Amino acid sequence: MSISSFYPPQRILMGPGPTDVHPKVLQALSRPTIGHLDPAFIGMMDEVRTLLQYAFQTENGCTMAVSAPGSAGMEACFVNLIEPGDKVVVCINGVFGNRMAENVVRSGGQLVKVEDDWGRPVSPDKLEEALKAHPDARIVAFVHAETSTGVLSDAKKLCSLAKQHNCLSIVDAVTSLGGVPLFVDDWGIDAIYSGTQKCLSSVPGISPVSFSDAAVAKIKGRKTPVQSWFLDQSLVMSYWGGKQKRSYHHTAPVNALYAVHESLLNLREEGLSNAWQRHAEQHETLRLGLEKLGISFIVDEACRLPQLNTVAIPDGVDDETVRSRLLDHYNLEIGSGLGAFTGEVWRIGLMGYGARAENVALCLRALEETLN
Ligand code: PLP
Repeated sequence: MSISSFYPPQRILMGPGPTDVHPKVLQALSRPTIGHLDPAFIGMMDEVRTLLQYAFQTENGCTMAVSAPGSAGMEACFVNLIEPGDKVVVCINGVFGNRMAENVVRSGGQLVKVEDDWGRPVSPDKLEEALKAHPDARIVAFVHAETSTGVLSDAKKLCSLAKQHNCLSIVDAVTSLGGVPLFVDDWGIDAIYSGTQKCLSSVPGISPVSFSDAAVAKIKGRKTPVQSWFLDQSLVMSYWGGKQKRSYHHTAPVNALYAVHESLLNLREEGLSNAWQRHAEQHETLRLGLEKLGISFIVDEACRLPQLNTVAIPDGVDDETVRSRLLDHYNLEIGSGLGAFTGEVWRIGLMGYGARAENVALCLRALEETLN
């Protein structure tokens, strides 16, 4: 078999992620690799932390980028905050809430599930009921932006309920960060994780995380060691540092962090509120165009994610045939349904650099030509 260098096709990524990587980010990725303890690299890591604090709207010192994808950020939050026997309420309204529940069980926690229908936001009333029924609960966890359904939940309200009932909160912001308003400190979020491949428009494989002082105190006060060596936050902190001298923990993905640095810089230069507004505006143009084509949204307007548009596949239309045609004829990727929504919906992403007028126009033209 003859094997030569791999050149990927040029796609336009309008699925649930990864999304189109900003050209400046791709350039940053190809800069020369330096040692991960090189003072220049360490200086850049400090800047990544500052930029992440801006993106998350937090002053948490314990803010960093986990050297692995969003799933590792999720796991980092659960394994560090849960001690065996801790009762954890997980709100589930899609695939990623279910993964949180799995993490609770595997971390030795006692799981309490609060379930909502797919396509609906997490119900604060149901959470409150569960917290009243379980006064010994220690943690509340939920997904801010459910990528499997395109639904936004009210993170501010859910975190304030957690606080009223003396619980720490764990929030999944993989799809929300950079795409919709998110205020870690103002909303009192204790542990949050995200991904770089969605609204940050960087390459996949890195997970920004941030822990509040209360979360750090819980980690420091653990009676049992965190079962994961790699994700043990107290060890990772010695590498991401704060005041102490950096020491080797693992070899950082040097170039991927250049990319994250560049993508966060893009976000800061644009400004968070401008980025949120751009996502909302592009979503509005897409919505009008899709509705003209007779394609309807499955999520109520009030809780729709602008960056992830979940629409019903029109009757009589074959999911695979349309998506393959979009890919083959237009180099355009849109997402299929996940879990219970497989074959029922398409998920059209407008994330980060992908949330641009030309992408919206291409998607509408390609769907119109393909469906008619
Ligand atoms: N949580 C949510 C809401 C996601 O959308 C995803 C990925 O799509 C993840 C967690 C897992 O992230 P990753 O695929 O980077 O591991």
